[in-house]
Amino acid sequence: MIIKDIKTLREIIKGEKRRGSSIGFVPTMGYLHEGHLSLIREAKKENDFVVLSIFVNPIQFGPNEDLEQYPRDIKRDTELAKAAGCDLIFNPEVDEVFPKPLKTKVIVEELTEPLCGRSRPTHFQGVTTIVSKLFNMVAADRAYFGQKDAQQAAVIIKMAEDLNFDIAITVCPIVREEDGLAMSSRNVMLNKEERKQALALYGSLELAEDMIVKEGILDPQTIIAKMEDFISDYRLCQIDYIEILDFENLQEIKEIQGKILIALAVKLGPTRLIDNKIMGV
Ligand code: AMP
Repeated sequence: MIIKDIKTLREIIKGEKRRGSSIGFVPTMGYLHEGHLSLIREAKKENDFVVLSIFVNPIQFGPNEDLEQYPRDIKRDTELAKAAGCDLIFNPEVDEVFPKPLKTKVIVEELTEPLCGRSRPTHFQGVTTIVSKLFNMVAADRAYFGQKDAQQAAVIIKMAEDLNFDIAITVCPIVREEDGLAMSSRNVMLNKEERKQALALYGSLELAEDMIVKEGILDPQTIIAKMEDFISDYRLCQIDYIEILDFENLQEIKEIQGKILIALAVKLGPTRLIDNKIMGV
């Protein structure tokens, strides 16, 4: 069932709740892959009724980013979502979500500054604003996000806590292609050569893990320098950032200790890919 307007969505959700159904929610921008489907399956395990939103959110794209090029295929998405256990797809038009210019924004401070926040300064306020709106539209009991977007997950957890959203948030593991590339809707924008070179992201994360676990190297700068070195062999890759941060507050660390996030963004031609690894306890 595909619903395009907020009023009908709310009526259906209210009906489900009256019947005693718990509601799981998976927000996406569509062009579904196994990563998205893993979130739907997890939602279906824990809830009676699963809502998937497919909305390419214009306010999280910067002026020179790939909003127009972002892949879309609602027919294929509908089939995949249904097979994974989705009960309702919410696929509104931009005018339904933003009928008038917004005068309200949701901004999470500090956590949005490092990593993707540096090169995409308005990205996270676009994400937190749309996710707040969607949380209010869907009124789910539980929402599911991927660790693939580790900073996004951290930002949304903090937003939900700070603003008392009555929703439990689960973060699910990164789903990868067989060769290690993290699944992403943007992977289809890579040409053959770029697709090969995209392995630099996962390869550099594996290298970092080996340096920490096998060699006992605890200096983040030494690890970052080796990762840069590794990626420089992939001539089509242009590094946006590599950072090693404390997982809890996304702050820089002087020494590797406790739970850490190793995250990077790399551009391959016009396509920007991200990946990360969480380590330690
Ligand atoms: P997107 O459609 O890219 O905005 O992603 C929608 C949701 O799917 C987000 O919570 C992402 O973190 C999650 N997601 C995207 N790719 C993956 C992946 N490879 N593994 C797990 N979750 C993912």
